[in-house]
Amino acid sequence: MQDFIFKNFIMPYFFKYKRLKRFDYYKELKKRDLMTQEELREIQWEKLKSLINHCYENIPYYRKLFDHHGIHPKNIKNQKDFAQIPILTKQDIKENFNDLINPNLSKKDIFYDSTSGSTGIPLQLARSWDDQEYGAALKYRSNAWCGWNYWHKSVWLVSDTRRITELESIKGRIILGIQRKLVINTKKITRENMFKWADQIKKYKPRHIYGYSSIITEFSRFLTDNKISVSGIEGVFSTAEILSERELISKAFNAPVYDQYGSSEIFCTAHECPKGKMHLNIDEVFVEFEDIADDQEIKKMIFTPLYLYGMPLLRYDLQDAAIPCEEHCDCDLPYPVINLQVGRISDNLISDKSKLVSGVTLSWYFTDATNGIAQYQLIQETFKDITIKIVCEDKFKEENECSIKELLAEMLNSTDLNINFEYVDTIIPGKNGKYRPISSKVINDFHKLKPQEIH
Ligand SMILES: [Zn+2]
Repeated sequence: MQDFIFKNFIMPYFFKYKRLKRFDYYKELKKRDLMTQEELREIQWEKLKSLINHCYENIPYYRKLFDHHGIHPKNIKNQKDFAQIPILTKQDIKENFNDLINPNLSKKDIFYDSTSGSTGIPLQLARSWDDQEYGAALKYRSNAWCGWNYWHKSVWLVSDTRRITELESIKGRIILGIQRKLVINTKKITRENMFKWADQIKKYKPRHIYGYSSIITEFSRFLTDNKISVSGIEGVFSTAEILSERELISKAFNAPVYDQYGSSEIFCTAHECPKGKMHLNIDEVFVEFEDIADDQEIKKMIFTPLYLYGMPLLRYDLQDAAIPCEEHCDCDLPYPVINLQVGRISDNLISDKSKLVSGVTLSWYFTDATNGIAQYQLIQETFKDITIKIVCEDKFKEENECSIKELLAEMLNSTDLNINFEYVDTIIPGKNGKYRPISSKVINDFHKLKPQEIH
């Protein structure tokens, strides 16, 4: 009954009142589940052409770039022509931020967002509200493949500093209530907090759990070790990090686990289906695969999200890699399958009290606590010794060092850390073209610890 009321009355009226179009977009996007892959590729090409035209006509950065390279939209007739457009790097976005925003949008149509910095390069972004709505609809469609309809109750185990602020205001909580989301701030993964999360979840009775892979994994281990069962969960949705403990999570929640792949810049690029294959949303994200030196199989992915018009990203290098494959899936979805096993690379840190600190969580807070950092890499050498390589302007050094020391002391719950700052001109990516922004040399020791040693 509650589902019916939320689906048919509360949610549509609320979003209509806010003039947000996610449900209209969702209805259109959902129809494509029944199309063929050829039809999707036609839509993709049409959308790509429209986006290129929009970039040339309206976006100062692209007009300049196209003119400089002698590129005109009318001459882009295939993928090879499209590939003549230079790749957009994070540095390009930083240096041309205002020129990448659609000048026809009024200030109230745009909002500013940022990435988690989990790739080691913190980045500010602008997005139109309409683009945001479209991205939300795309997420809804992918979730629905695995039985999570947008009107279902869900629990979000996240520490995204942009989202958890919703918890701090009454308005934010009401909006979460309308969206049927219980957000749990997982900044501190302690035994005490995990007992609280379990109670909250039992009381809320969600149908789906969503969160960062590392946090869901630790929480699952905690539930199993303490013989706590959470009933009624239909699916666990893992994001932001590599999913490596699927079986553990599935047992803990007595539910299937689904992996999804997206980023702060481009929501929901790919999502698993009930058969466990990762399907690429090719109708809304155009992906090119580029060779990486020394590696035959793994390719660098270059993304063009086809629905972002506020700040378009043509041929964007997100610094992620994958193995393209032509695998078939019997789930009948028309979206092609991709192998993303080499997707995100970021470790977690461990305190000497054996407390786990999620790498993604840390990157959100790291980005918020610092200024002027172009790139960073944090290496936990021992429980107490941390090396941080930083590419940063001189004027921010002192202030950043204080903030970082404070942040790590808080997150690792220790005042006894040896933090060594190394200032460098650039940080070289690993063999697969990816930075490893957070790595821990003690993580393997942590997994050897007995469960009861985890505080
Ligand atoms: Zn499938």
